[in-house]
Order: sequence, then structure tokens, then C-alpha cells
Amino acid sequence: MKQVTGNNGTVLHREEPVQNGSLPQEENIYRRILKQYWGYDFFRGIQEDIIRSIGRGEDTLGLMPTGGGKSITFQVPALAKEGLCIVVTPLIALMKDQVQNLKNRGIRALAIHAGMNRQDIITTLENCIFGPYKFLYVSPERLDTDIFRAKLSRMHVNMIAVDESHCISQWGYDFRPAYLKIAEIRDLLPGVPVLALTATATPQVVDDIQKRLHFARPNVFRMSFERLNLAYIVRHTENKQEELLHILHSMAGSAIIYVRSRRRTKEIAELLTAEGITTDYYHAGLDDATKDLRQQRWQRGDSRVIVATNAFGMGIDKPDVRLVIHIDLPDSIEAYFQEAGRAGRDGQKAYAVILYAQSDKTQLKRRIPDAFPDKEYIKDVYEHLQYYYQMAMGDGAGCVREFDIEDFCRKFKYFPVPVDSALKILTQAGYLEYTNEEDNTSRLLFTIRRDELYRLHETDADTELLIRTLLRNYTGLFTDYAFINEDTLATRTGFKRQHVYELLLRLSRLHIVSYIPRKKIPHIIYTRERVDISEISIPPSVYEERRKRYEQRIEAMLDYAANETVCRSRMLLRYFGEKNEHNCGLCDTCLTLRNKQKNPTPSPKSIRTAIIQTLKSTPNLTPAQVAGTVATDKDIVAGILRDLMDERILTCENGLLKMQEVTK
Ligand SMILES: [Zn+2]
Repeated sequence: MKQVTGNNGTVLHREEPVQNGSLPQEENIYRRILKQYWGYDFFRGIQEDIIRSIGRGEDTLGLMPTGGGKSITFQVPALAKEGLCIVVTPLIALMKDQVQNLKNRGIRALAIHAGMNRQDIITTLENCIFGPYKFLYVSPERLDTDIFRAKLSRMHVNMIAVDESHCISQWGYDFRPAYLKIAEIRDLLPGVPVLALTATATPQVVDDIQKRLHFARPNVFRMSFERLNLAYIVRHTENKQEELLHILHSMAGSAIIYVRSRRRTKEIAELLTAEGITTDYYHAGLDDATKDLRQQRWQRGDSRVIVATNAFGMGIDKPDVRLVIHIDLPDSIEAYFQEAGRAGRDGQKAYAVILYAQSDKTQLKRRIPDAFPDKEYIKDVYEHLQYYYQMAMGDGAGCVREFDIEDFCRKFKYFPVPVDSALKILTQAGYLEYTNEEDNTSRLLFTIRRDELYRLHETDADTELLIRTLLRNYTGLFTDYAFINEDTLATRTGFKRQHVYELLLRLSRLHIVSYIPRKKIPHIIYTRERVDISEISIPPSVYEERRKRYEQRIEAMLDYAANETVCRSRMLLRYFGEKNEHNCGLCDTCLTLRNKQKNPTPSPKSIRTAIIQTLKSTPNLTPAQVAGTVATDKDIVAGILRDLMDERILTCENGLLKMQEVTK
């Protein structure tokens, strides 16, 4: 661990000597817990410093790269105290993983997310009040509900942990308005300390996180983000496919290839497959089962390469990835650093490569108007949305509508990308809420009458148990669609989730139920009534300022790709406010620099001497052959040869060079 000087003097972390044998009582508790539940004897890196800080009740911000063991920093101190730790995290899949992980260690944990119905949420919250639970995971959107706030006041909360805390900052690349609710939750829990964690934050974002979470005083712990085994490379090439194949053929090991579009994932995967490289592709548009299957195949090493959009990678922990290649540039250093950082988690040498062509610069800049369409355009989208839903002026407050962007764009002749951006901007400006939440709820309706149900004969025991469980747990299934939860059904029947899913599909095929499995359906929620477009105002904080920051991030990414002189590792670390004094020695600029030092350009005089020496021992060489014997530019050699002929030291006959015969 090393000391890092941070921005604005807010970085207070210092290496503190550990005196063995005289550890304070609190540390013994933490190490005992670590040993008891995780089986480790010692903490890694700055884990223990963070734990001690939050354990003392101080608001704390921990900056640790992915894979640095973030979750231990709130799990251990929360276990050392009475009460419940509330963990705010945006990714439902990760939430479920962590809850399962804790359960496997014998620790009681629960989660509340969008996939649950009201009754399940109430039961979960009641359990947190009355049961011996230690962790409650919550997605930020759930913090805003009345039911959550009402129950919260009756819980004995010992700390709040905020994962991916950079999402609270408008300065960050991944701002989520729902994160701002965390500060309100703090007001409901006076005296409860907060631990914010992130794996990516510029100095500006570091300050902003603390401000927005109402830190009592600045308090940051930072682990170096330097990756000693990772070589950052940028390859300038006008033939990316050829370069890609060259790299994959000349290096072994598992690889992730990032591209920008879903279509390209498939194209590149086909190209690689045709070359005999086992490859799968992955993007958010695939169904869950396919995504799981492909991810697992790659994880096990059954396929060597996965070609993916940036939807791939969250929660993936494959230690032996040797290569991460970006065919298209990401739109920020933050995103790049996270994606590249998936290589070499095992500590063995790995490569993060960008393939960069001249046209990439223009292409990246073209994303600016896509991400920030004109304000007139945004208002236009708002207006058409009202036609789409036939929403009258003054109506709409509280309405939730499914939103099919393809359909909307077809009807009103829009392109999806700027429409998506326009809706996000309208969300930030407070006119509606456009959500893309991964985990919508499945729905089910019986399409036969209740009395017909008892006359069914072709159902087996499993199906009967499932039907009984459905009827016991949900009401109104014969009159309207009810929200159901396959996980709950799995628990209550004792079946595997997949089995529940298959049984439901079978019932659906038999026309006994109509089953709509959950999928990624975007929604538009009207947070206020429909207004006239003349009244719509999009403030600079939502538009101009954010657009400027987006442009700055793109510029930084382009600077990185175009750079040929500064060590790439240093450049990345500096972006995140870390000042290290040495070059990495692995990146392409470091290697170029080293080669230059090893083989300095020879002086014209030494080249001249070398040429004369060569031709003395081996006459009758072509100029090209002579040039091949000296390690320097062909043009320089040609110039020297001309000089030597002018001075009548050399002669050239039939294109062959030799020394001038000296007549005595
Ligand atoms: Zn370097």
C-alpha cells in the first residue's frame, strides 16, 4: 500500500504502522470476523483502514479498483455491530449474488428490488425490523417509496453502505438521479454513518460524492489504481480486422473484445469463428438464457473469445483474461479503465489494447449530438409522446406506460439513439421518468375458469403443486394479470427456478394460463402532468453543463488514443488524480522509448564509416543491400551514398556499388 496525495488536500489516507501485539480491541474484532466468516487471517490493501474509519462512526469514502475487495469493507464492520446495514447498489444481478454469497457464509441478508411485488417488499421490510438480519440490499429507486421510508424509522440501522457511489455525482460519467435520495435517507437516520465506495472517480467526483452524501468532514481512503501486470497498448491501424486476427493468433489466452454496436458483435464473432477461434457474442438485446449460457461458456474456457458491447462485464469475475481489445473507442476514460481492467485479475501479465484508426476521432465526436440532441428536438419528442399515449393536457401524473422505442420511432420517423437521449434528458429535467430497469416483473393470468382447473387430468404432480402454490400466494389470478415472482415460487415449491419457468411455459402452451415472463421492458412514468411544450424548460445543469462535460470526457479519450509520448498507465492514473512518479515500462509508449534508448539513431558520420567498411569487405552491393546493413532510415542512407559518389569515394556500375579504385 502506498500513500497517495490527493486533490484539494481531501485525501487523508496515510500508511499507519501496525504494532503487532498491541492491537486495539476493535481490530481484533474485525480480524476475528474476517477469520470466522471468510477464513482469511489478514485484510488486503486499505480494507482495514476503511473498516476502522467507518467502525469509529466516521463518514468514509473508499476508492478501490474492482477486484480490490470492496464488499468486505462494509460487511465486516456491519457484522461487528448490533443492527442492520443498508446497502444501496444499482445492479440487481450483483445484489442477488452478494445476498447469496452472504447466505452461503451463514450471514442473514435480504434484498429489495424492482422485481418484487408490494407484499413481498412489506414482508422483507418487516423481517428487517423483527428478524435477526444483518444486511438489506436496496436499489436506489426503492429508497423513494413511502413504504420503505415508513418502515425504515423502525429499523435498527448501524450503517449505510453506498456502492458505485460515483453515480451520485452529476460530474461523473454515470449519474443516476435516484442516488440523490440517499441524502434524504440519511436525514431519517441521524447519527448513522455512511460508507461510500467506488472503483472510479476523478478528483472532482471524489469531492462531489462527499458533498452530496453530507459527509460530516472529508474522509477519503484511496488504493492505488496502478495495475502492475497490465500493458496498455494503442495500435494505430487502418485495417482493424487484420490487426485483431494478428493479435489473437500471436497470443494465447482468454479475451474480451469490445465493440460499439450489437450488430458488430455478431459480425466480428463470425469472422473469428471462420478463423478457427472459438468465439461467442454478447449484448443487452439477447434473452437472459442466451446471455447466461454464453457467459458461462466463456467463463469455463469453452469459448476463448467473447465479442461484446459494454453491456458485458458487470459482475464478471474471470481472473485469467489475458486480453481486452477495444475495436471502437469508449466515450470516457472511466469506462475504458473499467473495461480494460477486466484483464489480468490473476496478477499474470495481460494486455489492454485499443485499435485506433484516423476516422475514430470523427466517429467519437459524432456521439455528442446523439447524446445531446437540440432542445427543439427534445421538446418534439415530448410532444409526440403525448400523441403516442393519447395523453391530454394536464393528465398523466403518476401514469406508468410501457415504452417500445422501435415502435415509437417507426410511427413518428425518429432514430432510436437520439430519442433515447432525449428521454433521458427529460428525465433529468423532471418531466418524466424513463427507466430501462433490467428486472421487470412477470405476469400471469388463468385463461380457464377456476372450476375447469379441477377437471384437468393431464397435469403431473409438479404442475399441480405449482398451481396450488400460485393460488395460495396470489389473488385475482382469474380476473386480471397478477405480478408473480418465479424466485418466490421456486422457494415455496422447493423447485429450481428454471423448473418453475419451464412449468409455467408448459401451462401457457396448454392454454391454461397466459404467462408473460419478465423481460427488459422500458417504461415511461409520468412524474408530473402533461405540460405544454412552451412551458418546458431544460436548465443548463441538465443540458449545457452536462454536454460540456461529455465533450471533455470524449476529448480525454481521444488524447489517450492519440498520445505517443506519455506512459499510458501514468496518463490513466493522472486522470483519476493519482500522481505516480514512474513509468510502467510495459505500455507501447514506454516500449518505444526504451527501444530508442537502446538503439539510438546513429550519427551520419558513423553511418558513413559503416558503409565504407561494408563495401571494403563486400563490393558490388545494390544501394538497398547497403541500406539493409545499417539500422537507419533508407533516405538518410541514400543521401550519404550520393555524397560518397560525389566525393568519388564510391562508384556505381550497373546499379552495383563498390569503392573507387585508388590509382597509385
Ligand atoms: Zn508505460
